[in-house]
Amino acid sequence: MSRFQVRKVAVLGAGVMGAQIAAHLVNVKVPVVLFDLPAKEGPKNGIVTKAVEGLKKLKPAPLGVPENAALIQQANYEEHLELLKDCDLIIEAIAERMDWKLDLYTKIAPFVAPHAIVASNTSGLSITKLSEVLPESIKPRFCGIHFFNPPRYMYLVELINTPTTRPEVIDQLESFVTSAVGKGVVRANDTPNFVANRVGIAGMMATMIEAEKFGLSVDVVDDLTGKKLGRASSGTFRTADVVGLDTMAHVVKTMQDNLKDDPFYSTYATPKVLAGLIEKGALGQKAGAGFYKKV
Ligand code: NAD
Repeated sequence: MSRFQVRKVAVLGAGVMGAQIAAHLVNVKVPVVLFDLPAKEGPKNGIVTKAVEGLKKLKPAPLGVPENAALIQQANYEEHLELLKDCDLIIEAIAERMDWKLDLYTKIAPFVAPHAIVASNTSGLSITKLSEVLPESIKPRFCGIHFFNPPRYMYLVELINTPTTRPEVIDQLESFVTSAVGKGVVRANDTPNFVANRVGIAGMMATMIEAEKFGLSVDVVDDLTGKKLGRASSGTFRTADVVGLDTMAHVVKTMQDNLKDDPFYSTYATPKVLAGLIEKGALGQKAGAGFYKKV
């Protein structure tokens, strides 16, 4: 296997996942260019600046030491795409919408270095479909890299290849993720929601639907599905707030759209309580309101 050196990473998307992936990378001293859309008002990198400030405020702060924030270069897609040319790895972590991801890939393609690996942090969209918009020269270097939330605590990273991904690319990425980033890798097939979300999201949907049916409160369900089931960090509803309710709904939709004929998965509708909160803009922790702290 040829040596793949990651001297700089571009992270596209400074939301819940992109910002924390960037923090994790700079904590292991890999410089990052963190991109997001230009802000509609105020300074053009406003979204990224807010995300970096947010990293400092989260408790415990995901940035190991405050100086690491300086290793995050702030960028937007309007002015700074040239910065991609210096990046050995590009991790896309924008919202879970196939159409938005495809638009962005078209935009960045001319700026991707000829050796760089491009990987999507999608929760479960088809990696093969995402690759289709890329030029033939990039397709062999494209794959899925699925970190879990919160990336600073969750050990697992799924790596997903397409039929055109060069096998060496997955080997190189696995070596980087395990040795430099300190995570464990599972190689997953390109199936809807891969391995962990296929099982995990179905479980969370079943829990929400049963809670609705039996009139169980958020506290009761989280007490039961958190510590009592051995998940010390959080129960079903707290986890949903941390993930982001819109992101959860997108992942459920991937399941509904792609597993229609599956007798098990096709039974899960989007729980009413989830849809209701999304409609009000209560998207979970990132919006300051969700199942906890209701609007
Ligand atoms: P998020 O909603 O927190 O952030 C999404 C970011 O994408 C925002 O900063 C937004 O400004 C940007 N964005 C929105 N539309 C865009 C566009 N058209 N072009 C470019 N950028 C745009 O989302 P997130 O939770 O960070 O999720 C990002 C990706 O990671 C998704 O694919 C999601 O499925 C995946 N993921 C999420 C989690 C989780 O628990 N939240 C876990 C693993 C993977």
